Amino acid sequence: MKKVTVVGAGLVGSLWSLYLAKRGYSVDVYERRPDPRKTGRAEGRSINLALSNRGWAALEKVGIAEEVKQSAIPMYRRVMHAVDGSLSFQPYGKENQAIYSVSRGGLNRLLLEAAEQQPEVRVHFAHRCVGADVETGQASFESETGTSQSDGEALFATDGAFSQVRSLMQRRDRFNYEQEYIDHGYKELHIPPAADGTHQIEREALHIWPRGQHMLIALPNPDGSFTCTLFFPMEGEESFASLRTVSEARAFFLAQFRDAIDWMPDFEAQWESNPVSSLVIIRCSPWNVGGKTLLFGDASHAIVPFYGQGMNSGFEDCRWLDESLEAFGDDLDQALPHFAEKRKPHADAIAELAMRNFVEMRDLTAQPEFLLQKKIEARFSALHPGKWIPLYSQVTFSHIPYADALAAGIRHDKIMSKIMARPDIQVNWDGEDVMEQMLELLD
Ligand SMILES: Cc1cc2nc3c(=O)[nH]c(=O)nc-3n(C[C@H](O)[C@H](O)[C@H](O)COP(=O)(O)OP(=O)(O)OC[C@H]3O[C@@H](n4cnc5c(N)ncnc54)[C@H](O)[C@@H]3O)c2cc1C
Repeated sequence: MKKVTVVGAGLVGSLWSLYLAKRGYSVDVYERRPDPRKTGRAEGRSINLALSNRGWAALEKVGIAEEVKQSAIPMYRRVMHAVDGSLSFQPYGKENQAIYSVSRGGLNRLLLEAAEQQPEVRVHFAHRCVGADVETGQASFESETGTSQSDGEALFATDGAFSQVRSLMQRRDRFNYEQEYIDHGYKELHIPPAADGTHQIEREALHIWPRGQHMLIALPNPDGSFTCTLFFPMEGEESFASLRTVSEARAFFLAQFRDAIDWMPDFEAQWESNPVSSLVIIRCSPWNVGGKTLLFGDASHAIVPFYGQGMNSGFEDCRWLDESLEAFGDDLDQALPHFAEKRKPHADAIAELAMRNFVEMRDLTAQPEFLLQKKIEARFSALHPGKWIPLYSQVTFSHIPYADALAAGIRHDKIMSKIMARPDIQVNWDGEDVMEQMLELLD
């Protein structure tokens, strides 16, 4: 039995520990936070997350998808809220295709429990990784009781966007590292349930208030509430910095998100107590040091949240890494470099796709032209399903590698811009000749 170490029992680290146990590894997991089941705190960024097909497939492979699904809420469509309160709708995929709202804290606890139930997994909470010899895969940890050392054959670093293990790898020759804060940050707000405990707005949907340079979104929780996230520039004329008082924030919300603020009776208290957090993109390479140390999940590829793919891509990492171990008969010296090299281009692609989707969500979803384009795409793809899978579906509802999806999306954009330039497109959008032209452009 191989003995290995996992640093970070967040979403990816706890799932990976379960994968390792199922492969027969003996696993020591070190997490800097105390056991969330004892503190009762759901720590970490964002209260809830969108889980989609890539994430589900990774959960299914270790047999826990069904359990997760019991508390997940399907979101079948986007509901767009205009400034005047009018609504428009856009289905995410074909009938019954949905992304799922799940609680970050709840999912993390469930994964941890599933990992801990395996006799081969030992989770050491309140143990902070403070050092590592990435050449040998040994790490050192500090806890209340002092310093300890891991003795596994390899180190799997899933310690998130500000990874300690990565910072040690950065000292190595020829390690590439890029960290980019985007101009926008975010603040979470809460829409409580109605008096009878039901959701105040459509439950099985992701709500968006697209406003060009900024947006508000809301995802449902099982208790009847919604968690809203305001994505807003950190600085500038209209920004977190420019809203200096809570009454300025209220005035801004009244002008921009009139319906939403009506559903938040304690807006002022929330605005004052909820922090503003920043959004970072991390790229690095190589992700591994031989077969001894490997970075994955946010530790090697943190992305912005606009495609809802950060966790999903980290879960897909677990599935791909498991396949590499399988392909190389658990020879870590071969499996780890193979995974790192094969996976990296796809992590870069989802980072780019996520930024592109920000523009789509905050700006394009408010534009009638864009909604028309989506209708044309949906019609064409229903007529020729093998020829055109909309980019959103490729990313969210398929397992097509991200870089292939990005390449197809760029091609689709070129074709759609020619179609949208047709003078008759507003009236003839579903006409046979439009569909014919799309076929020709594709060939
Ligand atoms: C606002 C927002 C919304 C998001 N929405 C979505 C979404 O809808 N869908 C989606 O798929 N993704 C979403 N994401 C992305 C998602 O949160 C991350 O991709 C995911 O949490 C990555 O998991 P991870 O396990 O790699 O890292 P993390 O979740 O950050 O876990 C890292 C763990 O390592 C521990 N750790 C850190 N340092 C040390 C140390 N030195 N020693 C020991 N332990 C350590 C931490 O305590 C933590 O438990 C969102 C992100 C944000 C910011």
